Amino acid sequence: MNTIAISDLLFPAFEKNALRNLPQNFGMEFFVEFGPVEYWRSLLPQFNIQSRPISLHGPCVTVNLANPDDTQYLSRYEKDITFGKEINAEFIVVHTNEQWSGNRKDIQNLVIERLQELDKLAQNIAGPRLAVENVGLLTNNLFNESEYIELFTKFPNIVSLIDVGHANVNQWNLPYVIQTLNKKIIAYHLHDNNEKKDEHQPIGTSSINWTELFKAINTYSPNATKVLEYANGTFKSMDQLLEHLNSIESLMTTK
Ligand SMILES: [Zn+2]
Repeated sequence: MNTIAISDLLFPAFEKNALRNLPQNFGMEFFVEFGPVEYWRSLLPQFNIQSRPISLHGPCVTVNLANPDDTQYLSRYEKDITFGKEINAEFIVVHTNEQWSGNRKDIQNLVIERLQELDKLAQNIAGPRLAVENVGLLTNNLFNESEYIELFTKFPNIVSLIDVGHANVNQWNLPYVIQTLNKKIIAYHLHDNNEKKDEHQPIGTSSINWTELFKAINTYSPNATKVLEYANGTFKSMDQLLEHLNSIESLMTTK
């Protein structure tokens, strides 16, 4: 399936009311961390989640896999993966790290160990796939381009989510990464920026060459979900968003 999905980061302050009018052919991704399970249970039925593709964004504020003192990552993920299964989410986004310090290799090994634990957990629960995102800008990028690619040779069950904005700031060779990981890529976070800051701007408003990028996406990972992970309140209404979705439609078949 060639799904475009909308992250709930799109409207200011995670405002979700307008998203109730999102046509059913579009998927949705929710930052599950920002509410207890009871909140999501009562809220999500408003969005027709049974009839559209759903994914969850895993914890990235209360969990930092690269912090040796983090003691709650496993229980937090257990809760979120279990809820993901309940709502039939296709994948849950995992950040390898937030801010980190110390010896780079040691921290990488710590994160790899913890990903192994999460992998086991996810296998036991048998719910959404774990989709590991390329995160961390510049010096905070714990796994560089080749190290990130290498990660997916270690975990046969874990899949990749490519955040093209992060990759753009870190000056990764995206067509190469996409060609190399190809079917391992379950989804993309799509947003634009000026190559210097992680701005989460709409497709086509800044420095990314989207035609080139979509040639690679459509060639090597045609079935990956494209999550528009826009922030900063660029859109004020659903009408504006639908107009934008129309304007990027031709990219989905660019070859
Ligand atoms: Zn992202």
